[in-house]
Amino acid sequence: MRSVLLGAPGSGKGTQAGIISEKLGISHIASGDLFREAASRGDDVGNQAKTYMEKGLLVPDEITIRMILERIGAPDCTKGFILDGFPRTLEQAKALDIAMAEKGEAIDLVLYIKVGTEELVRRLSGRFICQSCQTPYHIVSSPSKVEGKCDKCDGELYQRADDVPDTVRKRIDVYLDKTTPLIDYYSEAGKLIEINGEGEIDGIGESLIKALS
Ligand code: AMP
Repeated sequence: MRSVLLGAPGSGKGTQAGIISEKLGISHIASGDLFREAASRGDDVGNQAKTYMEKGLLVPDEITIRMILERIGAPDCTKGFILDGFPRTLEQAKALDIAMAEKGEAIDLVLYIKVGTEELVRRLSGRFICQSCQTPYHIVSSPSKVEGKCDKCDGELYQRADDVPDTVRKRIDVYLDKTTPLIDYYSEAGKLIEINGEGEIDGIGESLIKALS
């Protein structure tokens, strides 16, 4: 199963991709996590990506496409993968299709998690993430048991620099402008399934797994 999870920042892609990858035993590939890891290593890709990420802008296609195509070529992806946060532009989607077709493969399914804009801003502005295992929490709707500590691994919780209100709005604008055309792109290819992303995490997870199986 080679699939894509499509949705706005704050739609719950990361959480759901984690659940799916665990349940189906496929690799979870999150472009944002790869960029953040590269930035903390301080390598070339990371340094270039950082300037865009801080402003809530997309990292240029050339850099992003190269990084993801390399990642999905790794041995752990042969059994399948779920892409989270990639593609985010039509150019990225087309490059992915071409690269996969060259290997005689294709994206099987695209799951689109739909969430309204007000809800996205609310979720992102109160989001805290575990430094160690990336589990997300929300200051109001899903706080950790001990303030500032992850329930799962006791790691420190932090607020992403791009989860501050101005940058959140910018990221949502960029999503509406650059990423929403992918809904039509994959729908016309007969690969899109839309899931309502405003319910309970477990219920949404079940709908996604059902769609994939
Ligand atoms: P995310 O963790 O998915 O919210 O991504 C955080 C940031 O990483 C985004 O705001 C972009 O700056 C960058 N990024 C992640 N994925 C992509 C992508 N597919 N194309 C361009 N930039 C990306």
